[in-house]
Amino acid sequence: MKPKLKKEERDYLDRCKSIAVLGGTFDPIHNGHLAIAQAVHEEIKPQRVLFVPCGQPGHKQSQRVSHAKHRYHMTALAMCEHPAFDITQIELNRPGISYTIDTARALAAHCPEGAEISFIIGTDALEGILKWKDADELLKTCSFIVVPRPGHDSDKAKLLIDSLAQSHGTTFKWVDAPQLDISSTEVRRRFDIGQPVDGLIPKWVEDYALCHGLYRTPFNIWAPAVREARFEEAKDKLRVRLSTSRFTHTIGVIEEAERLATHYEVNVEKARWAALLHDAAKEYSSHKKRALCKLWRIELDEVLAVNIDLTHGLLGAESARRDFMIDDEAILQAIRYHTTGHKNMTLLDKIIMLADYTEPYRANWGPIKEMRELSLTNINQALILGTKATIQEAKDNKEPIHEWSYHALKQLKKGR
Ligand code: ATP
Ligand code: MG
Repeated sequence: MKPKLKKEERDYLDRCKSIAVLGGTFDPIHNGHLAIAQAVHEEIKPQRVLFVPCGQPGHKQSQRVSHAKHRYHMTALAMCEHPAFDITQIELNRPGISYTIDTARALAAHCPEGAEISFIIGTDALEGILKWKDADELLKTCSFIVVPRPGHDSDKAKLLIDSLAQSHGTTFKWVDAPQLDISSTEVRRRFDIGQPVDGLIPKWVEDYALCHGLYRTPFNIWAPAVREARFEEAKDKLRVRLSTSRFTHTIGVIEEAERLATHYEVNVEKARWAALLHDAAKEYSSHKKRALCKLWRIELDEVLAVNIDLTHGLLGAESARRDFMIDDEAILQAIRYHTTGHKNMTLLDKIIMLADYTEPYRANWGPIKEMRELSLTNINQALILGTKATIQEAKDNKEPIHEWSYHALKQLKKGR
């Protein structure tokens, strides 16, 4: 009986005349995978190189593996760069541990009669092939394309190939793919400590992993020493990136946010981070702000399109996530709306917004004196004064006013 597959997978396989299959955990897919696929495609010239992300890896049971949905999406994104690369979900849709033999049976059953199917395998994986499920059947019925993997002896692999060919009659082809010393393990390690992964994985894959918080220890469980070290590191980065006056302002906002957070019994750590990063994107040129909005899929409504500087909170939050490893939604939200406010402000949001006005190094402006006086007794009233003055200033300058400011004002007036 043919193994059951979804209709879309059956229809796809039905059109495969010759495929080189690359199975893997792809957690995440990296340029090493793509380079071997490319080399195989150039040398063997299969119609397609088919990437098969595994559902449940049998050999990584003690290890935490990212959700199949994420590994699938990242692999699919990487396929877009090469017309001959494609992806199938056949292992993801199969319950239980993913075994290559089951995939081999499914492909043999669903590809057209006479289709050439071979499995790409690195020398690291080849070393353990005799331990795979139904290894004898696999070796007797399938063909393999072997590629070298840095750190694994190619001569030893070739001896194993000869011996398996003798014992099982297996067809092996050797492809001298470029040896890129990249592994998913190393990519994950770099993500976790915030090191760049440029050149190791495609940009779209990096973007996906960052947006979905993969491979990074969540902010809430950073060890205290890590937290402190990262805070100082981030401060040093901003000292370089920002103008002296903006950096001084940032230090002032941190001091004020700490004071307010302590008074209002809000998480001081989160207040410090939001304060530190609130203007991280403020001094980017308007060109770069526009480009980043496009790249990071920040939608520009009518007001933001005209007053691009208003996006600096939204961009600051994205930069906090991507460049400073902050995945805490409360911190990100406080950064996002620190200039305009919004309709459901938390106490942390209010603290950052107020600290931005009342920090000790800010020169006298509008109702600042009153706002400072009210800061510990009536934070809503202090913010009402600030928001009204900001709206008036924008009106005087003939700048459009974002509705978020009006929403904030309405809520603050209700005492919320
Ligand atoms: P991890 O570090 O999590 O084990 P990985 O980098 O080894 O991940 P897998 O998804 O386990 O990647 O690998 C799938 C297949 O790709 C295996 O056959 C492996 O041998 C091969 N492969 C992976 N990276 C390379 C590389 N840099 N060079 C050659 N082959 C590779
Ligand atoms: Mg591996």
